[in-house]
Parts: sequence; C-alpha cells; structure tokens
Amino acid sequence: MSEKQSDRRDAAELRDVFTGEPLDLRPGSDDCYKCSTCDTECPVAEVDDEFPGPKFQGPEQWRLKRKEDHDIDDSIMSCSNCMRCDSACPSDVPLSGMHNTARGEYVEEEMSKFSREYIRNRILANYGRLAPLGAKFPRLANFVMGLSVTKTAYEKLLGIAGEREFPAFAEQTFTDWWEERGGNAASKRRAREAREERGGDEDADKKVAYFHGDYSNFNTPEVAKSMVRVYEEFGYEVVVPEQRCSGTPMFANGMLDDAKRAAKFNIETFAALVEQGYDVICSCTSCSMALRQEYPELYSFDGTAKVAANTFEALEYLRINEDLDGALANSSVPESEFGTLAYHAPCHARNQGLDGQAVELLSALDGTDPVDVGDSCSGISGTYGWKEEKYDTSMKIGEEMFDHMEESGGETGMTECPTCAMQMNHGTGYDIRHPLEVLDAALVS
Ligand code: SF4
Ligand code: SF4
Repeated sequence: MSEKQSDRRDAAELRDVFTGEPLDLRPGSDDCYKCSTCDTECPVAEVDDEFPGPKFQGPEQWRLKRKEDHDIDDSIMSCSNCMRCDSACPSDVPLSGMHNTARGEYVEEEMSKFSREYIRNRILANYGRLAPLGAKFPRLANFVMGLSVTKTAYEKLLGIAGEREFPAFAEQTFTDWWEERGGNAASKRRAREAREERGGDEDADKKVAYFHGDYSNFNTPEVAKSMVRVYEEFGYEVVVPEQRCSGTPMFANGMLDDAKRAAKFNIETFAALVEQGYDVICSCTSCSMALRQEYPELYSFDGTAKVAANTFEALEYLRINEDLDGALANSSVPESEFGTLAYHAPCHARNQGLDGQAVELLSALDGTDPVDVGDSCSGISGTYGWKEEKYDTSMKIGEEMFDHMEESGGETGMTECPTCAMQMNHGTGYDIRHPLEVLDAALVS
C-alpha cells in the first residue's frame, strides 16, 4: 500500500454505504481538479473509445447527482475495477469507493434481476458459493466444463466468453489438505520445531491467520500449501479459519449485498484473531486489497479498521519481519523448473505499492532469472474478461503484456493474482507460478 493510501486509510472515517441513507461523496468529488491523470491511466478507456473514463465515473457523476435527479450511467458496468485510476489520482479522490458505490446503485436500481446480464454477473461474483460443488467431484466437473458443448451452452445461455478455459478443480482442496495434515495444532508444532532448528526462541509468539481466498482453495492449492510451508519454515504458527470470498468480484459486479455479507463474516472472524495477536496474511493481492482498502472504504463493522491495519500480503510481511534476502542468497532452485520468470505485477498489487518486490527479491536466487514485463494491465480484472461482451476489450488490454512476456525469453510466467495468471496463460500458453511457490522450492521443498 502506498504511503498516500496508508494515510488515507488511517485517516478514514469509516462509513457504511448500506444504511439506506444516500452516500455523500461530495467531499471526494470536490477534491477533483479535473487534471485527467486518472483517464490517461485507465486501460479500458485506452482501448474502448466509448468508455467515458474514471473522471466521469467518479467525481462527475457525483456532481451531477448533487445538481439533479441523475441516474447512474450504464457505462459504470464497463469499468473493470482494476483501480489504476485510484492510485494515479494526485488529489486523493476516492475513485474506487465512488465506482463501487455507483455500480451498486446502478445494479440495484436499473438492472433487471431477471436479465441474463444480472444472472451471469451474480454467478461469476459468487464463484466461492458454487465451487464446492465442482470440488466434490473434480474429475467429472473438469471433464464436463472442458467440453465444447458446455462452453457453447454457457456462452449462449449466460454470456460467458466461450474462448475462456474454465479453471480446473484440484483433486484435493487446500482446506481438506490442511485438515488431513493436522490443522492448526500441527502447524503450531511444526513452527516450534523450525524455531528450535534455527536456534531461535522456541517460545516466540510468531503467529499468522491465513486468508487463502477461494481460488487457492479450490483451484490452486499448491500456492496455499507453499504459503504454509514457507511461513512454518520461518517459525510462524499458521491458523486457517473459516472464511468467505474477500468480496472483490462482488464489488466489481455491483453485488453489494453479497459483498456485505461476506465482508461481515470475514471481519468478525479475523478481528477476533487479531485480538489474539495474529496478523492476517493473504497470498492473493486482490484479497489483501479488499481487506485493507475496500473494507474500510465501505464498512463500519466493529473490527474493520483493526483487520485493515493488520493485514499484509504474504511476501511483504516476510520482507518486513524476516531476513528474506539473506535466506535466499544462500539458496537455489532447479533451473529446469523455473528458468526465466516473466513477472506481471497485478494492478491490485501496484495499488498497494507491492509491484517491485517479487522481482527484486527473487533476483538474488540462483536458478531463476525474474524479468518484469512492464506496468500494463493484464486486462482480465477478475470476472471482467469472462464476459462475452468484454472479452475482446480484455484481450486488447492484455496484448502489451503478452508481447512483453514473449520478448522476455522465458516460458514460465509469475504473478500473485489468480485471474491475471489465467489471462497470462490464455494469451501466451506459459505455465504460471506464484512467487510463494518459488520461495517454497528455494527454502523448503
Ligand atoms: S486524477 Fe483525480 S484530480 Fe485528476 S481528474 Fe482524476 S479524479 Fe480528478
Ligand atoms: S478502475 Fe480501472 S477500468 Fe475502472 S475507471 Fe479506474 S482505471 Fe478505468
């Protein structure tokens, strides 16, 4: 998180957009001095001439609302929620808060709840509710989801882009693996053993609560397992509480009631753990952004600020608290496994000031050569690129990243965001890894 955003968070007066009272965003819109920096940073506006851009979606809509009975413009549904405008604004206008609020109002008041678009968006936004079904019978689900007839049916009936490959369900979810391994008690024991081996204080109070998110649970448990192994190696006891989706896909689709329920559950769960001395760790940069930025912008539940202030991205936390550079300087990974890693920084990592850390950190490691492929957006933005009518825009935005990946000379990509990983693989065919998997290979496995 940038210093500016951190200051904003610390100074934020928590507000609840669901009180039924109209949300007053005038102070934010009055801070806009129309420099248009946000518009020049918007990847959707760059490839779609009809999209009016973030300045219109944010401050201008709220000014219009103040003057007259103005309906939210339907172009708000073309904003991908990448949040690049948010970090670009020199005047600290709360653009993402304005967009989330406008989208919620548009969906609530102007979108038919029986329309194909609403049903499709609700399904995409609530992946975590549907995924347990597929995860129960992963082979069957993967077979059926991979059939061309299934993709055609989804495209025709729901408007989900037929060009996309459905992500495969893992044979075993992360949480099943976690329970089978012995759960929180086993982690406590392993962390203590690691502290003993390192000659440190075996009774040190090193403990973290893991927010793994849905995708690491159902589709890429190898990322979550790496997170656990790496943290235990540094002597941290990991706990994995029951949790809901962070809400990012719900905000992005204007499903604010769904997002509110998920956020309330997560805030209550993790605030109780923060009270007990745990820090909250996320392996997905969109999840860490939701907990530390979107929740305090939108909610005033007890514990919201506490969770936000004690949430960290997984690498960021280790860099702050451990000598990660020192540990990596004496380590290596098999060159055949990683080689040149074409790294893409997710927009949501950029928004938290985390875009440079993976390449900087892993450059010291023998056996791999991470290359930053530049600051373009991947274009998928969670559920955005899955929509039939947004697919072409999503791929046009992603072109620059695909080109840079191919120019990097590697065949493996790296990123912290699961949907950016899907887009990277879709556009180049590269295998995509998470930085935690590289750390795991270097320090533990
Ligand atoms: S960058 Fe900020 S100040 Fe400039 S036009 Fe956009 S919202 Fe207004
Ligand atoms: S969130 Fe991204 S797509 Fe939406 S207006 Fe801002 S820069 Fe554009």
